[in-house]
Amino acid sequence: MNSEDLEKGRNILFVISSPSGGGKTTLTRKLVERIPWVIHSTSYTTRPPSEGEIDGMDYYFISDHQFEKMAKAGEMLEWAVIYGHMYGTAKKSIEELQAKGYDIILTIDTQGAAQLRASGLEAVFVFLMPPSAKILAERLHKRKRDTEEMIQRRLEFSCHEYRQIYHYDYIVINDSFEKALEALAAIIAAERCKRDRMLSLIENKWREIIAGDRSIHNQS
Ligand code: 5GP
Repeated sequence: MNSEDLEKGRNILFVISSPSGGGKTTLTRKLVERIPWVIHSTSYTTRPPSEGEIDGMDYYFISDHQFEKMAKAGEMLEWAVIYGHMYGTAKKSIEELQAKGYDIILTIDTQGAAQLRASGLEAVFVFLMPPSAKILAERLHKRKRDTEEMIQRRLEFSCHEYRQIYHYDYIVINDSFEKALEALAAIIAAERCKRDRMLSLIENKWREIIAGDRSIHNQS
């Protein structure tokens, strides 16, 4: 078994939610760069692209009609209406990435996460918390992406999102980028080392050990 075999093939779904401005997009980008065999699933949305966003990378930008068609056909693993636009994860995207052996990060809102939990799908749920409501407001103003009205809507909605933290497996406070990155990387590493996931990966070697086959000590 080479080291690549030990990195891939667990097919863990990591669901990261946070209020807008919570930092999940930038942190996820870094995690994907840093950890082999972890990838971000690109969502579908009906919202128009913001400046600099690339279709197929940041989102698949599609029309209301296309989205409704996909949702109606049962092609979405989860979806939600957020600030008047539809956002969703396609089943096909997840299946394709899992078939390649990736662990997958979904950065989705609390409504989508609740749907996944209710469906009984096995996933690791992480809530990324801004250090304070004041700092979240500052971050939303600083990124200069939204109108003042939109920022106020996002802040209002964040109060509803905080109430969902009780349903998450992990809570990470994003007071410093580096610390939050380390915490998320540690969660991923720990989840990858869970006994059942390891056993299914090393099953063959494990059997040889149980059988007392001493020749394993001569293998590289
Ligand atoms: P934004 O428009 O700022 O990119 O995203 C708005 C919200 O939609 C964020 O909370 C983001 O996590 C969420 N979101 C992005 N993709 C999905 C998705 O596929 N499903 C759900 N439920 N939420 C999503």
